[in-house]
Amino acid sequence: MVITSKVIMSVILIFGIGFSLLFSYMLYQSEKDVIMAEMQKDAERRAAAFTLSLSMKFEALHTLTALFRQNPDFSYSDFKNEAKIVLERHPDIQALEWMPIVRKEQREEYEQHLQYIHTGFTFVELDDGGNVIKAAERDFYYPVYYVEPYIGNEVALGYDMSTSAARLSSIDRAIDSGRESVTEPLMLVQESGSQTSFLMFNPVYRDGFVPFVNHREFFVGAVLGVFRIGDLYQTSEAGNIPHDVKLLLYDLTGEQKTLLHTRVHDEDKQYIGEMAYSVDIDALFDRDWRFEVFIADDYISQRMSSQPYIILILGVLLVIASAAYLDLIYKYISLIKCKNCDLQNISLRDPLTNLYNRRHFDDVLKKEWQRAIRAESSISMLVIDIDHFKRFNDSFGHMAGDLCLKEVAKAISQSMSRSNDSVFRYGGEEFAILLPNTTDPKSVAERCRQNVEALGIRHPDSVEEVVTVSVGCAFIRPEKGDDHNALFLEADRALYAAKKAGRNRVCEQLNQKDNALVGAIEFSPKD
Ligand code: GH3
Ligand code: MG
Ligand code: MG
Repeated sequence: MVITSKVIMSVILIFGIGFSLLFSYMLYQSEKDVIMAEMQKDAERRAAAFTLSLSMKFEALHTLTALFRQNPDFSYSDFKNEAKIVLERHPDIQALEWMPIVRKEQREEYEQHLQYIHTGFTFVELDDGGNVIKAAERDFYYPVYYVEPYIGNEVALGYDMSTSAARLSSIDRAIDSGRESVTEPLMLVQESGSQTSFLMFNPVYRDGFVPFVNHREFFVGAVLGVFRIGDLYQTSEAGNIPHDVKLLLYDLTGEQKTLLHTRVHDEDKQYIGEMAYSVDIDALFDRDWRFEVFIADDYISQRMSSQPYIILILGVLLVIASAAYLDLIYKYISLIKCKNCDLQNISLRDPLTNLYNRRHFDDVLKKEWQRAIRAESSISMLVIDIDHFKRFNDSFGHMAGDLCLKEVAKAISQSMSRSNDSVFRYGGEEFAILLPNTTDPKSVAERCRQNVEALGIRHPDSVEEVVTVSVGCAFIRPEKGDDHNALFLEADRALYAAKKAGRNRVCEQLNQKDNALVGAIEFSPKD
């Protein structure tokens, strides 16, 4: 297969551009991995900051609880003072509260006791429509008895938490375990917006200790913290998320997945539907919380450097430049080769007739001679001479003579039928034709003669009054050691005979080796 410059260029372009694409894609992927790893690290840092912030608040709640454990009969003003200290350090706690257990028979006493501070104080609950109403009679109550700050949490004061299933189950867990307990996500009675909140109960037992058994008998109440999740998140270090990230906080406890808080800068942005990363929050004791991070469609492209694209463009340009450079070299080499070829060709040809010249005749004869010896085949030779050409020149001038030579050369060339037959201008008005692998040169010779005569070039001083040629031909089956000049001499001898016999004819010198008529000659056309 000949590999052309186009094939080479195509291979270079396909592989070069392919490698550039592959390389820039790999670079893009590794940059993307780094961007994603940074996003994950950022999410973990935020989760850690949020966890730490929660833990600190819970610790503060423990401190307050410790005071109640030492003295469950803590007064409202003592509570307020202690709670204020905590709230000054943690302003994002919605409220700190004291919730005693109040049996049916103690209700009135408890209500009257607080009426000195809050006129008309009574235990309350919510009706089906969410309105605050006086608490119905029941065996025991878990009322919000002390609350700090009061302002903003007025509605919660006196609220009987045993009327809320979510609160009650958390209180029960706290009482039975003797440990802090966190409610499921809920809406506060004092909630004015739409934030989800949770409460944390720290149980307090009589005599200041946590009993091993019969927790309920010793339970006197719980110190509780009220936390609005959005506020907590906002004030923690995790609050300021990047503009193209959406952060969702979920409670995954049990079967349910409850959305606690959504943090997003730009609601209108398009976010990739699939979660990019998630981190668990471990601060919530018996509840499982989790951060889920979603990134915007353009998150990666916004952070991606231009390097992969630059590499791609440079790579493609380099490949194209290399291909063009190689193409140029290839064309240049071809041009030089072509020029060499032309020069060689020029040196082999006769400028007037454009036939091969005498020098080339010698080379070709030697080669064909050797080939015929090897192949044990015949080789034929024609020697053609224009009749009375001197007279033609004399009559019409040298220029007309040159034109006549050209026409005769063309007619002779067109008489050849096989591609490996070669026509030479032997010299002056003489031509030689080499016919490899041929034993019948006479028919070709006759065709040449007829074609020249048929040109009808006027020549009043010649035999037929038109330009004609005489042809001598011979063939030989050469053997090793034979002289290659012999063939030409044979054909030339036949030419001489043709001239002598009256011109415009073919004369064949019958080969001495191959023919019985040794040295005989044969003319065409016969007179
Ligand atoms: P014959 O039939 O015996 O061959 O006679 P002839 O006149 O052709 O032979 P001769 O050898 O006497 O003359 C050959 C002439 O060919 C002499 C020369 O003027 C002419 N000739 C040779 N080469 C060229 C050439 O390149 N151009 C022209 N115009 N004439 C040439
Ligand atoms: Mg001559
Ligand atoms: Mg002549």
